Amino acid sequence: MSARDWIDKDFYRELGVSSDASDAEVKKAYRKLARELHPDANPGNADAEARFKAVSEAYGVVGDPEKRKQYDEARSMFGAGGLRGGFGGGGAGFDFGDVFNQQGFAGGAGAGGGGLGDLFGNLFNRARGGGGPGGTATRPRRGADVETDVRLDFVEAVRGATVPLRLSSPSTCDTCHGSGARPGSSPKTCPACGGVGLVSRSQGAFAFSEPCRDCRGTGRIVDDPCPDCGGEGVNTKTRTLTVRIPAGVEDEQRIRLAGQGEPGRNGAAAGDLYVRVHVTPHPLFGRSGDDLTLKVPVTFPELTLGTTLTVPTLDGVVSLQVPPGTTSGRVLRVRDKGVVRRDGKTGHLLVTLQVAVPTDLPDAAKAALETYAAATADFNPRPDLTALVQKARQT
Ligand SMILES: [Zn+2]
Ligand SMILES: [Zn+2]
Repeated sequence: MSARDWIDKDFYRELGVSSDASDAEVKKAYRKLARELHPDANPGNADAEARFKAVSEAYGVVGDPEKRKQYDEARSMFGAGGLRGGFGGGGAGFDFGDVFNQQGFAGGAGAGGGGLGDLFGNLFNRARGGGGPGGTATRPRRGADVETDVRLDFVEAVRGATVPLRLSSPSTCDTCHGSGARPGSSPKTCPACGGVGLVSRSQGAFAFSEPCRDCRGTGRIVDDPCPDCGGEGVNTKTRTLTVRIPAGVEDEQRIRLAGQGEPGRNGAAAGDLYVRVHVTPHPLFGRSGDDLTLKVPVTFPELTLGTTLTVPTLDGVVSLQVPPGTTSGRVLRVRDKGVVRRDGKTGHLLVTLQVAVPTDLPDAAKAALETYAAATADFNPRPDLTALVQKARQT
């Protein structure tokens, strides 16, 4: 993977965003695609896997403000997708894909973002007259942040959960240690550019450097590519991580796990892992911060005469006293039956009482209610409204 590939790819199109999309838009587009295309969600689907890799690669660059800046600069310098035409001498149809394949590079989605920055950084510094070959390749670089999604059910979110996460990310090929060459062989210095990765070209009065097309800007040529990574030096690895999600996590909350992202290069720190939590709602319970909520239908006699209700909590049942004369909609609190935080802070269960009205009333019940209505004819449940209505009628 070289700078040329990098510039030649339209990472914005890969993510379905415009090149002036905000970081947040880029992130959002990536998350959506990553979810849809994730290998776990598409077992055995090679197309989805290829797209997943391509999208990961794209996000590895434009999702990183520093790399995105370099990428944008490079594209404006060489022209977006313009290398294809530029190298061909006025779009004569030179196809880099051919070159890559001849060299044993399986073009396309195999590579990840890992090696791009280094290679490109290298080239870029040289293009600006900076250090010699390999100058920045050994510079420590912090690993990229990784984002992933996890779905919890309601109870897991309240109590906290330990979840296994499978993460697919590009990493240095173990077989060739990133050189791209078959073990036992090594890449040779590119004869066309003498290992610099750039060649000079003159056009009119101007002479300028452009990435060497024989070595794709890397300065090296792999004659005998590594069988495991196809010469890219990078392949996709899946690792499984056990992650502890704390009690009380909210839907759409993002949890940062420091140092669990991609490994750093040359001794630099690893990136962070961000886990976005999606919580499946409960059919009965709801959440309000650390409190749980529950609506309990009651009858009119239960409210008027008072009763003792048996109410479920997440870990059992409790008895709830409803005093005589309780109004509909009243909220009763069951202490300490909500989220229990690690620091000991505890939420409550908030029970809302709601009168349920029978739609099909037996004759005896109807007669009893009519008797009740007659006996309570003096009770006006809405004196304030009555006063307003009277006032409105007078004017
Ligand atoms: Zn390899
Ligand atoms: Zn070269």
